[in-house]
Amino acid sequence: MEMNTLNNNNNNQSDSSSPPQRKRVMNPVDPEEFRKQGHMIIDFLADYYTKVSNFPVRSQVEPDYLRKHLPDSAPLVPEPIESILEDVQEHIIPGITHWMSPNYYAYFPSSGSVAGFMGEMLSSGLNVVGFNWISSPAATELETIVMDWLGEVLKLPQQFLYKSSNNNGGGVLLGTTCEAVLCTLVAARDKKLSQIGRNNIGKLVVYGSDQTHSSFGKAAQIAGIQNVRAIKTKRSNSFALKADSLLSTIHSDVKNGLIPIYLCATVGTTATTSIDPLMELCDVAKEYEIWVHVDAAYAGSACICPEFRSCIDGIEGANSFSFNAHKWFLTNLACCCLWVKDHNALTKSLSTNPEFLRNKASESKQVIDYKDWQITLSRKFNALKLWLVLRSYGVENLRNFLRSHVNMAMTFEGLVKLDKRFAIGATLTEEHHVIMAWKLIQEHADSLLGSS
Ligand code: PLP
Repeated sequence: MEMNTLNNNNNNQSDSSSPPQRKRVMNPVDPEEFRKQGHMIIDFLADYYTKVSNFPVRSQVEPDYLRKHLPDSAPLVPEPIESILEDVQEHIIPGITHWMSPNYYAYFPSSGSVAGFMGEMLSSGLNVVGFNWISSPAATELETIVMDWLGEVLKLPQQFLYKSSNNNGGGVLLGTTCEAVLCTLVAARDKKLSQIGRNNIGKLVVYGSDQTHSSFGKAAQIAGIQNVRAIKTKRSNSFALKADSLLSTIHSDVKNGLIPIYLCATVGTTATTSIDPLMELCDVAKEYEIWVHVDAAYAGSACICPEFRSCIDGIEGANSFSFNAHKWFLTNLACCCLWVKDHNALTKSLSTNPEFLRNKASESKQVIDYKDWQITLSRKFNALKLWLVLRSYGVENLRNFLRSHVNMAMTFEGLVKLDKRFAIGATLTEEHHVIMAWKLIQEHADSLLGSS
């Protein structure tokens, strides 16, 4: 590898009689080195994708295996990419659980794709830090446009789209669903506390079901909300949260002087694939001015198919909706899409305005500063990734891709039903097929992975 780095050790050891040597300054983005190494890494990954189905899906290593293979401390002098890649091949690949393997069935699908990777690569290469509009106008504007596109494809109500909500609503790209739940919960908390006073935080109460993802309880903990209700669901109701259970829990809380603020409804729960009935839940929530967030982390993608859109019927009553494009939408990690009806609720809680970020564009209020819609300040140009996915595959192909998975799930369900050793965990409606059998695969992931 060409040494385009700071002087190496030898250069340093000049004796006092020789003239001082000019140090070579490192160019960390040397274009030719980038081209050469970039090609090598793409080749490496292309070879990996060719071979990945041959590997055991679950890594076979023992805990702490890696320490034995790597030096105790970081290198002081540069190492060539060739030997780094050799180590990746020899020591890292064996320690990988192969999420990109076609034999992988755990957790949620490995949703990498050529377009998702290319988008990620473009984003990393351009390396902009688009915290506000001025820090990279295209990053902000593309995000707004792409989120409107995707919102339209999902047939989200107009209030969730930036353009057609008179700029009141809109979408934002976060890293994960945990962030989406936390940001919206904090917005709901502050909205209520601004009416009743911050010292009443101990009275706030939030609702989910016993199937709601653990990110909800964690978000409540971070937000300082002690009263978290995990309302019991039943197998006979396909583990969905019933509106009357929600209502009776609210009644009892209100009777005890508590103040309901937030419901996390789920479309496609992690353990049982249940779909909470949004319409009825939103009706209850409306009565108590409760913020409804809909977490459709993996199942949301399927709603771009008209035949599965009914999974989110009733979304018009919700305040926010999120799904992870990195779960089932061919977008490389991490990419959570969050839409809100009222982005002012988010920005009231999350905006910051330090001197060093002030600029005319922000002050004009004519631009979006996405830093104020999220937890962190810095943010990647994730919209490029989603834009490439949408453009490279097109909505119709994406729909067909999702349908092919649903068909596989239905075939799998048929096979499971034929086998007396297995039972279907919940009575399911047509829509549940979207995700149901896939979940069965998850439940048996350990044995499937172990035997692969
Ligand atoms: N919600 C649901 C329904 C999930 O299935 C998951 C993860 O699988 C999450 C939330 C958490 O997602 P993230 O890891 O993006 O925070």
